[in-house]
Amino acid sequence: MSDNRYRALQQGDRAHLWHPYASAVDAPDMYPVSSAQGVRLQLADGRELIDGMASWWCAIHGYNHPVLNRAVQSQLAQVSHLMFGGLTHAPAVELAALLCELTPAPLQRVFFSDSGSVAVEVAMKMALQYWQARGLARRQKFVALRNGYHGDTFGAMSVCDPVTGMHHLFGDALHRQYFVPAPEVPWGEPCPASALAAMRATLQAHAAEIAAVIVEPVVQGAGGMRFYSADYLRQLRALCNEFDVLLIFDEIATGFGRTGKLFALEHAQVVPDILCLGKALTGGYMTLAATLCSDAIAATISGGEGGAFMHGPTFMANPLACATALASVRLLLSHPWQREVARLQQELSQGLAPARDLDGVADVRTLGAIGVIELREAVDLRRVQPMFVERGVWVRPFGRLVYVMPPYIMQSQDVAALTAAMVDVVAAL
Ligand SMILES: *Cc1c(COP(=O)(O)O)cnc(C)c1O
Repeated sequence: MSDNRYRALQQGDRAHLWHPYASAVDAPDMYPVSSAQGVRLQLADGRELIDGMASWWCAIHGYNHPVLNRAVQSQLAQVSHLMFGGLTHAPAVELAALLCELTPAPLQRVFFSDSGSVAVEVAMKMALQYWQARGLARRQKFVALRNGYHGDTFGAMSVCDPVTGMHHLFGDALHRQYFVPAPEVPWGEPCPASALAAMRATLQAHAAEIAAVIVEPVVQGAGGMRFYSADYLRQLRALCNEFDVLLIFDEIATGFGRTGKLFALEHAQVVPDILCLGKALTGGYMTLAATLCSDAIAATISGGEGGAFMHGPTFMANPLACATALASVRLLLSHPWQREVARLQQELSQGLAPARDLDGVADVRTLGAIGVIELREAVDLRRVQPMFVERGVWVRPFGRLVYVMPPYIMQSQDVAALTAAMVDVVAAL
């Protein structure tokens, strides 16, 4: 494509589009992409970038994958969309069965929705309706961790970190929840009971009005890329049992192998009451999310007022998305993915290690296929974004974090190029 076409797309974008977390009037130029293959994005002017972001952590198999393409095409020839009220279809039936098989045994009921944020809304509604059905309708509050991220809709936003989530902007429109400090005990270390003192105190004081605790297990993603002790989750489960409060795990970022286990909860061997999945579920092809709960919770809700769970998105269980998800999860399971993710962890650790000695670097950490350079100060995205593109990589920092979550198929030499570019850019800051 010509340079003219490239610039026309940038101008057209500037005229009418609004990008995530961006100004409508003073945004930097966007980078038009014409196609993508494997781990490479092709810009509309012909440049190629190694993609370190996997399109916000979703494209675990890379782009334009023949297996996923075939899944879309064969479903397209059957039916693209069906209302899910009164009708069902094989992709949804088979995907639900597979998700129940892969997640802990008590989780046997699946509610599909369109995005991660909605999956969190659904989880929160399940918790509220559960207590309503048990005659404890006062239990309407949630406990969340600081530095957490659970999505951008109102319910989800109410349990995101109040500072990075800019809760003050939304005033009384946002429900007030209880927040406890983020777990300080690092990944891989045992967690003393004292680390959950604030959690215990909150539950002790307010259990009668608390519906559930919601956390991202092991990795706090968009709220800070923090990795914490799996042991924290075991103790959190025990506390939730002690105070009879539900436990929701948001594995939208961590699910499908990203942390080295299929689900991060496996690091702790802990079973939540409700589990949210999204992002990598369709291998980054389509928007789909799932909220799983136990039969006991599903039965209690169904025995409550109205006898139904009160949610039903138009595009619920979209057949194209379910068929693609089924193909993506099966493709993952057909690979030695543990070995691939372990290799990525090793190569990311090795490649990012030189950043430790740089000025302005506070920490370098990796877990599974996640590599993070934490700086002492926030980066200026406007300055830094072109520096990555000039070096042939797509890395999108936020705040003080320069991080990557590459597709699992990324070859060693591409990981080396990606991490070298990260270290080079950080050194130049
Ligand atoms: C991305 C994310 C969400 C929100 O998902 P969307 O599909 O963007 O709505 C929720 N929770 C976590 C942990 C996430 O990483």
